[in-house]
Amino acid sequence: KCAFDPSATVSDTCISYESINAINDEIYTLLQSLTIESDFFSYYRLNLFNKECPFWNDESSMCGNIACSVNTIESEEDIPLVWRSEELSKLEGPKANHPPRDLREKLPKESPLQGKLGAGVGESCVIEYDDECDDMDYCVPEDEGSTGKGDYVSLVDNPERFTGYAGEGAHQIWNAIYKENCFLKPIEEEFQEQSLHVPLGGLEAVSDFRNVLQKESRKESLRPDGLPFDNECLEKRVFHRLISGMHASISTHLCWDYLNQTTGQWQPNMQCYKERLHDHPERISNMYFNYALVSRAVAKLRKHLKSYTFCTSDPAQDFDTKQRMNQLTDVLARPPKIFNEEIMFQDAAAQGLKEDFRNRFRNVSRLMDCVGCDKCRLWGKLQTSGYGTALKVLFEYDETKNGENPPYLVALINTLGRISHSLAAARSFHEAFEAGHEHA
Ligand code: FAD
Repeated sequence: KCAFDPSATVSDTCISYESINAINDEIYTLLQSLTIESDFFSYYRLNLFNKECPFWNDESSMCGNIACSVNTIESEEDIPLVWRSEELSKLEGPKANHPPRDLREKLPKESPLQGKLGAGVGESCVIEYDDECDDMDYCVPEDEGSTGKGDYVSLVDNPERFTGYAGEGAHQIWNAIYKENCFLKPIEEEFQEQSLHVPLGGLEAVSDFRNVLQKESRKESLRPDGLPFDNECLEKRVFHRLISGMHASISTHLCWDYLNQTTGQWQPNMQCYKERLHDHPERISNMYFNYALVSRAVAKLRKHLKSYTFCTSDPAQDFDTKQRMNQLTDVLARPPKIFNEEIMFQDAAAQGLKEDFRNRFRNVSRLMDCVGCDKCRLWGKLQTSGYGTALKVLFEYDETKNGENPPYLVALINTLGRISHSLAAARSFHEAFEAGHEHA
């Protein structure tokens, strides 16, 4: 069986679900230990509360369930050192590459920041610069539209799972993502919308996407269910699959870690999975597609990551993190290549299309500020940032060039961790269906 419909494939060969599952078996435990046990990857800083939805008034769609809430870290002391030093490193200064082995050692004399990161902090630690979005990025800066730099959150203490967030508010977001930001809006709706045009802030910026390119082929290229026909251009299909795959991964997690309201137990819910995924095999395929895309981006960073040192305040843990990252990229960089980014954005209209693609993706990120459930917003923001990073690495990043800014690794690796977990959960659900346990 092919993981990807051959007519929609972006890889040279037809990769089977089994072969992707086999790769996942090799890296699943590594990824879980990286994202759960390492301080470097298990904390995330973001603007969770003080950014307004830039597109509509979302006050009425807030989720009041306790499961929607997020515990943030209030005290500086509970934040791993590397992230505290990040705050301090906002001072202008060069980035260095070779940290001292032992962070307790004295800083080298030629330390570029002259100790400004604080005593005992290697100046060449990998630092996540989250305010460096530029025109070539697929993300929006976390401080866009807000005053502060945000809150620190432990991802382990706030797992992605069922929250009860549903209904109109949640649908409005998914609708906006699919109907406004995808290349796939049916022509009749576009027509209606033009006559009822409401200013939508940032969304307007990308509604220019109704460019000639699309109009030419649109009528013939949409099926009644909004999915593209095979003649839809490759890049548009990729965009759609990416969004649908992300949605499918979120749905898998909420069905996997579901609250049984009768018993109060958190457990997998077969019916939930059946309705949202099992009965829609294309959504599962899109999830595998995302796995291939993000894995390829991480593989592309292999060389770059070899020279990284992850420094928190615990050298033994940092050593483990480095070893695990090396193992991870070694597995992912092995042939065959399961996603071939080189065939995208190649024809004459490529540059405009790429910009369009990038702008739309940024809008999907902005839509995350409209999500009315804190925990869903946390994971939605992290994952859009992770996919945005993957796209940047695939389409803008030159692996042969030294001195490129490091990408947003925390979001990228956690996003891969999430899809890896989704694939494993989907497989368990599938096996339970095969064994006839539908009613479990
Ligand atoms: P929805 O999942 O809301 O889907 C709406 C419609 O989209 C469906 O009717 C279907 O036509 C279409 N659709 C569904 N899946 C796909 C797909 N994969 N590809 C293409 N089309 C599709 N809830 C939680 O419990 N925990 C969370 O962590 C969580 N995170 C969220 C993050 C974001 C960014 C958003 C917007 C919502 C989140 N939610 C979360 C809510 C959750 O996604 C659903 O919206 C909610 O459970 C209601 O589900 P539903 O069955 O009405 O369909």
